[in-house]
Amino acid sequence: MSKNKSSESVKVVVRCRPLNRKEESNGPAGGIIQMDLRLGQVILRNPRAPPSEPQKTFTFDAVYDANSKQRDLYDESVRPLIDSVLAGFNGTIFAYGQTGTGKTYTMQGAWMDPEKRGVIPNAFDHIFTHISRSQSDKQYLVRASYLEIYREEVRDLLDPNHGNARALELRESPDTGVYVQDLTSCVCKSIKEIEEVMNVGNQARAVGATDMNEHSSRSHALFLITVECSQPGPDGRKHIRVGRLNLVDLAGSERQAKTGVQGERLKEAAKINLSLSALGNVISALADGRSSHVPYRDSKLTRLLQDSLGGNAKTVMVATLGPAPQHYDETLTTLRYANRAKNIQNQPKVNEDPKDALLREFQREIARLRAQLNHRKWRSQQKKEQVDGEGWERDGDEDTEGEEEVEKEAEEYVKQEEQRLEREKEAIRGDRSLLADEKQRLLGEKERMMGDLRKEQEATEQLTARYKAMESKLLVGGKNIIDHTNEQQKMLEMKRQEIAEQSRREREIQQQMMVQDDETLELRETFTSLQQEVEAKTKKLKKYLKLYAKLQCIKAEIQDVNDEHVRSRQELEQTQNELTRELKFKYLIIENFIPPEEKNKIMNRLTFDPEEDQWKFQPLVPAESKSLQMKKRPTSAVGYKRPISQYARVAIAMGAHSRYRAENIMFLELDMTPPNTASLDRSTEAESNQSPSLDSSPTKDRGVRKSRSWCQTPKSITSSSSNVSLAACHTATPAAAQ
Ligand code: ADP
Ligand code: MG
Repeated sequence: MSKNKSSESVKVVVRCRPLNRKEESNGPAGGIIQMDLRLGQVILRNPRAPPSEPQKTFTFDAVYDANSKQRDLYDESVRPLIDSVLAGFNGTIFAYGQTGTGKTYTMQGAWMDPEKRGVIPNAFDHIFTHISRSQSDKQYLVRASYLEIYREEVRDLLDPNHGNARALELRESPDTGVYVQDLTSCVCKSIKEIEEVMNVGNQARAVGATDMNEHSSRSHALFLITVECSQPGPDGRKHIRVGRLNLVDLAGSERQAKTGVQGERLKEAAKINLSLSALGNVISALADGRSSHVPYRDSKLTRLLQDSLGGNAKTVMVATLGPAPQHYDETLTTLRYANRAKNIQNQPKVNEDPKDALLREFQREIARLRAQLNHRKWRSQQKKEQVDGEGWERDGDEDTEGEEEVEKEAEEYVKQEEQRLEREKEAIRGDRSLLADEKQRLLGEKERMMGDLRKEQEATEQLTARYKAMESKLLVGGKNIIDHTNEQQKMLEMKRQEIAEQSRREREIQQQMMVQDDETLELRETFTSLQQEVEAKTKKLKKYLKLYAKLQCIKAEIQDVNDEHVRSRQELEQTQNELTRELKFKYLIIENFIPPEEKNKIMNRLTFDPEEDQWKFQPLVPAESKSLQMKKRPTSAVGYKRPISQYARVAIAMGAHSRYRAENIMFLELDMTPPNTASLDRSTEAESNQSPSLDSSPTKDRGVRKSRSWCQTPKSITSSSSNVSLAACHTATPAAAQ
C-alpha cells in the first residue's frame, strides 16, 4: 500500500488581511502586525504594552501580508499539496482564525473575479487541468461532498432535504478510517459541475441559517473531493490511486461568551466551540509529543480530521489574522495555536488499490454493459443472417468498433425487419386463398412480432444510454476538457510554479542561515590583535544581549500562556458550576418526585452509547435471538408438559402414587353426571337389566367423561382412588332403587 513512509510536518502559513474602513477610521494608523515575507516571520506589537517591551516574533513556513494575492498563496503553499492529492495522497487545508479575518475569503474568495478566487476554485481548476493534460492511458473519477458541523451535528449540505434531514453519524472502518455515513457524493465531470455542487451546498447553508454571519462563524464547513486515478502498471494490471482532499473553513476561533447562561442555552454554548477547543487540545497533544493520548474522540471535527492531524495526510493550515489593535489577544492566541501546529508530524502515504475504490466498480459495470451490448449486437446480426440467407462472418475487431456503429447497425436491422414484416402483412392481406380467420391469426402474429422487435429496440437503447452515462463519468487523460490550455499558458504556469518553488526554497535557506548565524559567531573567535579581541568581545556581548532579550521574550510568553490557562480554567470552572447547579436541580426532582422503584427500573435499562455520545434505553422486549432461546424447552420437559424428575417419570410408568402424575388433577373426574339423572335412568331400566356388569354399563359411558391425558392408561384409571369411588357410586345406585 505505502509508497512513502517518511513523516513530514504540518505546513503552517499565516495571512493578514488589510485594515478595513471601520478599523482605519477609529484606530491609530497602521496595524499591530508586521511581516517579513523573506524570512516568513510575523512580528506582533502589543498596543497596551510600553514601547520598551520586546515585540513577539513567530516564524512560519510562509507569511502573506495585506498586499498578498490569492494566486501567490495558492501557487506557493497549496499547489504542491493538490499535486500530492492527484498522486494519491490524502490532503487537508484548513483555515483557522477569528471571525472576519479572511478564512472564507482565503478558501473561497470572490468567484467572479479571477484575481480574487480562493483556494477552492483554484483547486478545481488545478485538478481538472491536470486531468486534461495527463496521459491518455489514465482514467479518473472525481467525486465531491459538502458537509457542515454545527452544534456538534454533522449535516449533509448536498441532501435536498437538508433542512429536515437528521444529523449524520460518523463511522470508522479499518480501510478508510473515519467517514460520514450516508453522505451524498456527486460525481463531477468538469469544473462547471463541481462549482455547481459547491453552489448548491452554499445555498443550503444560507437557507438553514437564520443569521448567515452568525451561523457561518459558528459552524465548520468541509468540502471533500476524492480523485481516483486508474493507470496500467508495469505488471499490466490497472492500479488505482485514491487521493482525498479536505477543504475546511473552520468556525471563528473567538471565545463564545457563556457567562450567566443556564440549561439548554448553556449546553448549546458549550457545544458551539467544543469542536474548536477539542481541535486545540488535539494539536497541543500532538505538538507536545509526550502525551500518549490524543483526544480525537472528543468532537466530530477532530474525529473527521484524525488522519489530517498526525496521520496519513499532508496538511496545510492557513491561520488568518486581523491587523486591528483591539483584537490583539485573539491575534496572539491564533499565532500561538499556529505555532504549535507546526510541530505536528504526519505520515502521508499513497493510497494504492484501496478496497473501496469506486472507480473499480465503475470499470466493472462499464465492462458488463459493454458485454451485454456486444451480445445484443451479435444476436441481431445472427437474426439478420437468417433473414438475408447470406453468410455472416464475425469480424475479429468487433470489440474495438465504436458504439455509434453498433447503434447504426442495430437501427438498420430494426428498420429492415419492420419493412419485412409490413411486406409480409400486405402479402397475407392480399392472399385470397386464406380464410378470414386464418388471415386474422397470421396478421396478429406479425403484429406481435413487431411489438417484440420494438421492445427489443427499446431495451437496447436503454442499455446504450446507461452505458454512455456510465462511461461519461470517467474522465480520460489527454482529452482537452478545458479550452484555454494552450502551450503558452502551460509555459506561463510552469514558470510561475518555478518562481514559487524558488522563493519557498530561498525562505527556507534564510531561516536556516538565521539559526546558523548565532552558532558561527563562536567559531570566529581566533583573534590576532587587541583591536580584534575588543571586536570579538563586543560581538559576544551583543550576542548575550540578544540572548537576554530572547529570555525576556520567553518569560513574557510564559506569563502570557499562564494568563491564558488561568482564563480558560476560570471559564471551565464557571461551566462546571453551572452544570453542578443544574445537576443538583435534576437530583432534587428525581429524589423527591419519582418513586424509587420506577427510578431503579429506568436506571437498569439505561446504557451509554459512545458512538452517539448519548444515554439510551434498552428495549423492553428481549431481542429476537433471546426470545428464541426462551422458547426452547428444557431437556427435562421433552415429551411432557413441564419439567419432570426421573423418579417421577418412573413412578408414572409404574402407575404408582397419584402424586407423581403431573396431570393428576385431570383424574379427579369432576365432570360427573348428576346422581338423580342416573337414578332416573336406573329406575326405567332396572327390571330389564337385572345384573348389569360395571364395565358394560351405558350410564358409565354416557355419564362420565374421562380425560385422555398423556399418562392415562386403562390400568391407572381402574387403580385410581377416584375411580373406585365412582364405581361405588354406580353400584350403590341400583341398590337404592331396588
Ligand atoms: P471570516 O470567514 O474569517 O469570518 P471573511 O473571509 O468573511 O472572514 O472576511 C471578512 C471580510 O474581509 C470580507 O469582506 C473579505 O472580503 C475581507 N477580506 C478578508 N481577507 C482579505 C484579504 N486578504 N484581502 C482583501 N479583503 C479581505
Ligand atoms: Mg467565514
